[in-house]
Amino acid sequence: MDLVCASANSHKYSEMVQILSGVVNLIPRPSEIPDVVEDADTLQGNARLKATAVRSATGCAAVADDTGLEVDALGGAPGIFSARYAGENATDEDNVSKLLKEMSEVTGEGRSARFRTIALIAWEDGAETIAEGVVEGIIAATPSGVGGFGYDSVFIPTFGGGKTFAEMGDKEKNAISHRGAAFRALKELL
Ligand code: IMP
Repeated sequence: MDLVCASANSHKYSEMVQILSGVVNLIPRPSEIPDVVEDADTLQGNARLKATAVRSATGCAAVADDTGLEVDALGGAPGIFSARYAGENATDEDNVSKLLKEMSEVTGEGRSARFRTIALIAWEDGAETIAEGVVEGIIAATPSGVGGFGYDSVFIPTFGGGKTFAEMGDKEKNAISHRGAAFRALKELL
């Protein structure tokens, strides 16, 4: 089956192609489609906004994902605000700095957190297929590693040998990551 990828991020696209191969022919997002404003109040709502915008623009079924980092000591923040935790035009470094500052008094198991991803297909007829992926871990005291993006340098997954996501190669991260889990679950549903 053909699905248009709602993400313009080439790393995400290749990861999705790898996971969904054999079941889905993933078409890259056409570059002329404008970015959608992600102003829903849930990850699922934002994934739906992205997928339906691409479906409307192309007339084809589309697949989108949305991810949030949930930190227990911060009541689940930054959550849906992960991309703009330190402000509208925040860089990854700004967001990580703010997170470490907010967590400066928190120690040990109190630093528990998880990444959650919702993957959603918006079909031509209005139906949806939705899957979730979660990876548990803790927030490191200081950043480590140079790979990845976002909060990777401060997220130590529970089953990752003590390394941050940024200290892992793409394959190693994708095998245990929230996004990998969500797309593997989506493939099962198909
Ligand atoms: P999006 O759903 O991919 O747009 O993710 C929203 C924000 O969550 C990103 O801007 C990153 O800050 C963060 N994020 C998402 N996925 C990851 C990841 O795999 N590692 C680290 N941060 C991530």
